[in-house]
Amino acid sequence: VADDPFPDRRHARLTVLSGPTAVGKGTIMAEMRRRAPDVWISVSATTRPPRAGEVDGVHYYFLTAERFTELAETGRMLEWAVVHGRHRYGTLREPVERELAAGRPVFLELDLQGARQVREAMPDAQFVFLAPPSWEELVRRLTHRGTEGPEERERRLATARRELAAVDEFDHVVVNDDVARATDEVLALMGVTEAVD
Ligand code: 5GP
Repeated sequence: VADDPFPDRRHARLTVLSGPTAVGKGTIMAEMRRRAPDVWISVSATTRPPRAGEVDGVHYYFLTAERFTELAETGRMLEWAVVHGRHRYGTLREPVERELAAGRPVFLELDLQGARQVREAMPDAQFVFLAPPSWEELVRRLTHRGTEGPEERERRLATARRELAAVDEFDHVVVNDDVARATDEVLALMGVTEAVD
C-alpha cells in the first residue's frame, strides 16, 4: 500500500541474516544475545558434527542424517539446505511460528539457499546481508579461526564467492568492520530496543 511506513520491511517481525563464512555471524549473534535478550534467535538443526565447545540445543540441534530426513520429509523444516556441499542445515518450523505468534522479534541466521526459501515462504521478512570489509579480510578471518582444514577452507571460500555475488537480493547490507557497530545496525533494522547493561 502507498502509505506503508516501512516499505523496505525495516522493523519486520522476522529478520534473516546471511553472509559468507567467517564474516562474524556468530560474534554478532553473541553480542545480540547479550544486548537484546528479547530477540528470539532460532537454533538450527544440522547433520554436521559438533565442534569443540558446541552444545546440543544451544549452538545447534545435532541430528543424525536419518532424523534430519524424517523432519524434512514430514514438513517440519521451514527451510533446509546442504551448505558448503557437505552437511544439511535447517530451521525447525514450529518454534519459529510459535515465537512469531507470541509477537517476539525472531532472528534466523541462514545460508543464501535458506534465505531464498524463507523469502518465498515469508515475504514480509527482512533480509540482511553481513559483508566483510574486504575479500582479503574474509580470507584472513577464516584462516585465523583455524576450525577448518585447508580442504574445508577452500570449500567455504568457494561458497563465499557465490554468496557475495548475491548481495543485491538482500534488503540491507551491514559491513562487519566492528562488531559493536554492526550489531547496532542490525538491532536498529529490527527496531529492537536494547536491555540496559
Ligand atoms: P557452520 O558449519 O560454520 O556452523 O555453519 C555453516 C553455514 O551454515 C553458516 O554460514 C550458516 O549460514 C549456515 N546455516 C546455519 N544454520 C542454518 C539453517 O538453519 N539453515 C540454512 N539454510 N543454513 C544454515
